[in-house]
Amino acid sequence: MAGATRDRSSRELTVGFDIGGTNTRAGVVTPDGEVLDVRSAHTPQDADELAATIVRIVNELRAEYDIAAVGLAIAGFLDPDCEIVRFAPHLPWRDDRPVRAELEAALGLPVRLEHDANSAAWGEYRFGAAIDAETWVFFAVGTGIGATLMHRGEIYRGAFGTAPEFGHLTVVPGGRVCSCGKKGCLERYASGTSLVDCAVEKATQGRYVDCALYRKVVDKRASGQDVMAAARAGDALGLAALSSFATWLGRGLSIVADVLDPSLIVIGGGVSADADLFLDAAREEMGANIVGAGYRPVPQVLCAELGPQAGMIGVADLARERLGRATGTC
Ligand SMILES: [Zn+2]
Repeated sequence: MAGATRDRSSRELTVGFDIGGTNTRAGVVTPDGEVLDVRSAHTPQDADELAATIVRIVNELRAEYDIAAVGLAIAGFLDPDCEIVRFAPHLPWRDDRPVRAELEAALGLPVRLEHDANSAAWGEYRFGAAIDAETWVFFAVGTGIGATLMHRGEIYRGAFGTAPEFGHLTVVPGGRVCSCGKKGCLERYASGTSLVDCAVEKATQGRYVDCALYRKVVDKRASGQDVMAAARAGDALGLAALSSFATWLGRGLSIVADVLDPSLIVIGGGVSADADLFLDAAREEMGANIVGAGYRPVPQVLCAELGPQAGMIGVADLARERLGRATGTC
């Protein structure tokens, strides 16, 4: 299948890893962002085993493809130079482990690390919904909210490499408890998992007892996907929960727009697969809450185009800078 492409650009192929808390996926990616092959494995909860898994997958792929470099999209905080994994609660790397240098030595190939949201954003910037956007924000809505700000082709990291954490802006003082330890964070109101909380709140109003979703919500058996599926099926409780989610998402986007004044916001992450159900409402809420509403341009809000492969495509592209053809900022 990939033979012709492989022959055309064999020296240019890189591998992009998407390392999540449960699964690790790796893709062989061309300079045009095309994924030729994908491997996956369970993510080991031991640091040495995780490194061994990465090396094994790369060696398997090298047996078939001429691989020039490797990129790793990581769900966690990195140092600003993208050398060290500082904090990744769902991965076994601890104590400022120098992951990039260790893997580069083990593989004998150039290695690039990047935060997972930044990787997906880079993928959208190079090959997806944000090509050539000058000042734009990627908003990854899934279990939580991850975000990236890009300005004139560079990823903005802040002084300590943690910017921007829009998901943990306090939008309801004293509100829902967040996994970060604070209360009332945006991601407790506008993430995939928050759909369940929105449904619980609506269910307690007593108006939705006849809905198919109601019993599941009351019995604490509903997932965010269940709520989204119910909304798609027209269930009144599902639609009410989704409306609440869309309202909060729109308010969050208005804060983003007020602070950063981007021309474009791209909604990615798992929830974006159902963007047709909520994006118009979120846009409307953003437009109504932005400062100077009606007297200024508002950012365009688009759905991401690369889907769940955005991270591996983006970090595979970023890995090319290690070959001396710099495209990123680390
Ligand atoms: Zn939080």
